[in-house]
Amino acid sequence: MSETIFSKIIRREIPAQIVYEDELCLAFRDIQAQAPQHLLLIPKTPIAKLSDASAEDKALLGHLMFAAGEIARQEGFADAFRVVINNGAGAQQSVFHLHLHLLAGRSFHWPPG
Ligand code: AMP
Repeated sequence: MSETIFSKIIRREIPAQIVYEDELCLAFRDIQAQAPQHLLLIPKTPIAKLSDASAEDKALLGHLMFAAGEIARQEGFADAFRVVINNGAGAQQSVFHLHLHLLAGRSFHWPPG
């Protein structure tokens, strides 16, 4: 896949407000927050979108889900938060490096828009 701005964030070539990092993933604040707390959680190994993940990525995908819960506890919003993955341009994905949006701090509606 071609590189995105998120690879530059991983390499610290552009600034980001990083709140969590481990050997496999990184979480930082979204620059256009859609909630009082809006984090992006990305794998350090880029996958363009969720539907491009392969069987070899299963452990990484599980790690991201586990990390999402850890980060929610760390940031104090474990009681109520939303996890969103936009997959493909038709679903409003704009950066083609897989990322989980973690949103918290406001009320949410269902179904999502
Ligand atoms: P998506 O539309 O699901 O691909 O989400 C991409 C997200 O990346 C958007 O919410 C953007 O606001 C966010 N974003 C883009 N560039 C940056 C950046 N340099 N630092 C933090 N967030 C960013």
